[in-house]
Amino acid sequence: MSPAVAPEPSAPFGSWAGGQITPNAHCLLQGNPSPMTLDGTNTWVLLPPGGTEAIVIDPGEDEAAHQQRVVDHVAERGARITQIVLTHGHHDHSEGAPRLARLTGAPVRAVGAGHDDLGDGDVLRVSGLEARVVTTPGHTADSISFALPGDHALLTGDTVLGRGTTVVAHPDGELAAYLDSLERIRALTGDGEVTSILPGHGPTVPDAAAMVEFYRLHRRERLEQVRAAVADGKRTADEVVAHVYADVDRSVWPAARMSVLAQLEYLGV
Ligand SMILES: [Zn+2]
Repeated sequence: MSPAVAPEPSAPFGSWAGGQITPNAHCLLQGNPSPMTLDGTNTWVLLPPGGTEAIVIDPGEDEAAHQQRVVDHVAERGARITQIVLTHGHHDHSEGAPRLARLTGAPVRAVGAGHDDLGDGDVLRVSGLEARVVTTPGHTADSISFALPGDHALLTGDTVLGRGTTVVAHPDGELAAYLDSLERIRALTGDGEVTSILPGHGPTVPDAAAMVEFYRLHRRERLEQVRAAVADGKRTADEVVAHVYADVDRSVWPAARMSVLAQLEYLGV
């Protein structure tokens, strides 16, 4: 089976720098690039033009300079941060939340990690802007996305990234849930509610439908490869990783191993 070809990302590696992406969404890129965080963590500020209240999605890793930059950015626009929300609990998204909460007095809202106060369909409102919670478990059990109807955009955290593909972080993440979440996002792109994706890492995705299709194809192909590796006598997760992810940089093998464990669980092996 030939590998799925990723849709052209909007910016080549190294050139993504964040900025004002939609009328209501501004990305402040944290300076923490790595094989797992790609260009770094995208901290999203939701603030309508002329608005006085802002939502921050994913404050990033705990880093005084980054969280202060978020506060300063909003203050320079004549607004203040009134809500902090998390796409999921991984440290590269959530670790800076307590610091940002101390700096702003804003509450932190999320699913999981003692924050179970956001649920599917909840609508966050600031200064006339609406962001609707879409639960998208799979990367982790607590992964959620946020739909911005006014911008036809979906903030996906690590469920769909700006380049490459994501990890199903077994045992917390589950492949069946992840595949269901891709179908949910696909349905949103199909009816035109969502045309672009604002991811947790990497550049924004201007063609959401094409990227979701790529993700679905990629997952099906990897699953077939894992199935074939097992049929071929590969038994341990490490053996399957070495076989199936031979073309992938070894620095991401530990992450690939989690995805393989999720796939073996899905296959009932
Ligand atoms: Zn992440």
